[in-house]
Amino acid sequence: MAVSDVASSLILLDTNRKVSHNALRVLHYRALVLLICAIVLGLGSSRTVRAQPSIIVAQEFDSLQQGTVGILRISGEEIVGGNASIFDRAYPFFPTTEGFASLVAVPMDQKVREYPIVTTIYLKDGSSVQWDGNLNVSPGGFIAEPDFTIPPDKAKLLNPDIEVAEETRLQAIYSVLTPERYWEGPFVQPVDGKLTSPFGSVRTFTNDGEVRRHSGYDLKTTSGLSIVASASGRVVYAQPLDIHGNNIVVDHGWGVFSEYAHLSAIYVVPGQFMLQGEIIGASGNTGRSTGSHLHWEIAVNGIRVDPAQFLRLRLPL
Ligand SMILES: [Zn+2]
Repeated sequence: MAVSDVASSLILLDTNRKVSHNALRVLHYRALVLLICAIVLGLGSSRTVRAQPSIIVAQEFDSLQQGTVGILRISGEEIVGGNASIFDRAYPFFPTTEGFASLVAVPMDQKVREYPIVTTIYLKDGSSVQWDGNLNVSPGGFIAEPDFTIPPDKAKLLNPDIEVAEETRLQAIYSVLTPERYWEGPFVQPVDGKLTSPFGSVRTFTNDGEVRRHSGYDLKTTSGLSIVASASGRVVYAQPLDIHGNNIVVDHGWGVFSEYAHLSAIYVVPGQFMLQGEIIGASGNTGRSTGSHLHWEIAVNGIRVDPAQFLRLRLPL
C-alpha cells in the first residue's frame, strides 16, 4: 500500500452522519476523530479497491502545555500497532481494550510552537498507513522560585560532573520500554503533604549563580513518613544517588516511571513488584535537599512530566 496515497485520502468526518458507534464514544472525550479510508489502487489499467480498512485516529488534545502528557489513540480491526513521530522522537502505541494508545509527553523546555505528528499505523497484511496531525505546544506556566542556597556541606553536589553522571544513570533507567501496562487506573500522590515546589520551576542557586529547572514535584513532609507507590509496577532502582539521595524508581510499563527521592529509608529491592498504595520507603532529607520532603518525579518515554497533570490524566487501560 502506498503510504502517500493513503495519507492524501484522509477524511474529516461529518460526525452527525458517518461516525461509527465506537467513534462517537471517542468523540465524547472531545477528541479530534479522523477516519482513514485506506483505499488501495490496484496496478494496471483498471482501478480496483482491494481493501478499505476503517481506521479511527483520536487525538485527545488540541494543544499540550510544556511538561504535560496527552493521549493519541488508533483503533480498527486491521491494526496491529503504530508509532508516532513528534519532535524527532518516537512515541510507540500499546494495545488497549479499545485499540492502541500512545502517551505523548512534551519536554518542559520544548519550544512553544506547532509541531507535526506523523503516525505510522501497521496493518495485519504487513502494510502500513500514515496519518499526519499537528500538536500545538503551549507555555507551561512555570514559576520562578526565590533564590536557593545549598548548605556548605552539600554544596559540592552542585558540581556539573555529578549532575551529568546522575542524569545519565537515570536516563538509562527511563529508556527501558516495558510493553506491559501495570497501572489499573489513575496514579495517586505518594504521601500527603503541602506542595512546596511545583514541576518545572526555575531556580537560581546562590552558591554558583546557575539557573536550574525542577524536574519533580516537592511535597513537604516530616522525616519518616510512609511513601507509597503511585501505581502498580516493578521496582527498577532502590539505592542512594548523590543528588536524589536514597532513591526509588518504579517501572509502570509503557515507558512510564515514578521516582521517589531524598528518602530516609528504602524498604524495597529491584525486581520487586509493588501494588499501588503499598509502602516503598520513608520520607527524608538525603542527597541535595535542604529539609525533609519528598521529591517525586514522573517520566514518560524518557521525558520528565508534571506529576500533578499526570494524576488528572484519563490514562488508557
Ligand atoms: Zn524536588
